[in-house]
Amino acid sequence: MATKITTKHEHSKNLRRTAFHEAGHAVMAVLLKLPFRYVTIVPTAEFLGGCNFRTPSYAQKLRLVAQNPNAWDRDRLENEILFYMAGAIAEKRISGRIEARGSSSDRHCASDLATAALRYAAPEEVVAYLKYLSVRASNLVNSPEVWAQVVLIAQRLLKIKKLTQTEVKEVLGVGKFAART
Ligand SMILES: [Zn+2]
Repeated sequence: MATKITTKHEHSKNLRRTAFHEAGHAVMAVLLKLPFRYVTIVPTAEFLGGCNFRTPSYAQKLRLVAQNPNAWDRDRLENEILFYMAGAIAEKRISGRIEARGSSSDRHCASDLATAALRYAAPEEVVAYLKYLSVRASNLVNSPEVWAQVVLIAQRLLKIKKLTQTEVKEVLGVGKFAART
């Protein structure tokens, strides 16, 4: 009986952590105007923790970068990196630590994109650039207005599990004021 209660408690703790992780990605995406289809905390076979937030085809994106680097300006790549970093930052703020497995694909995406953004750079330059961007992502996520949005989306995800980009924007009231003017 005691084991069962602990397990249930662990499960809801994990869900909460995942919800904040995914909410971090989603809010950053809206902030930086990056398109995404949906954000969810429903686990899949590939992502144990339910980390299946996706912008359309990441692999395809990297191929585009390789084929035509000029089509991807550095600002856009930098925004993508901030987006990938935001999940772990939000997760760390509420749980005090990061589930390494859950964030490893985010880390790979961020470092691949940094390498693409800094063509011809030495590896230590890429490392320093990623370090700078992680400070920037952290300051953005932890700013009071953005964090309030992360909390809102995480709470919503815990209730209904999945939100489309449009639903995320509705919850955040994005576009509400623009439509009135
Ligand atoms: Zn993630």
